[in-house]
Amino acid sequence: MEKATSSQRPRTCRACGKQFQYPVKGSAATRHHCVECVTVPAHLRVVAERLSTRLATLERLMKRLQTLLTSTPAPDPTKIKS
Ligand SMILES: [Zn+2]
Repeated sequence: MEKATSSQRPRTCRACGKQFQYPVKGSAATRHHCVECVTVPAHLRVVAERLSTRLATLERLMKRLQTLLTSTPAPDPTKIKS
């Protein structure tokens, strides 16, 4: 269970991945959705969330691949003996 606090905390929207402050007085934003996405019909938001999850997965994978590529340099073709 999450503790209710009066202070704002940065949140990441589940649908679009945008960072937003929550709670903001007078804002319709929810804990999981920013003010733009909260007005999107639920069935479309589900699709947006699915795509957002896939993007996050791909971004993580890209970062891992980048790390792999930079930490293990490709063999220098001029130094490979035939
Ligand atoms: Zn959003």
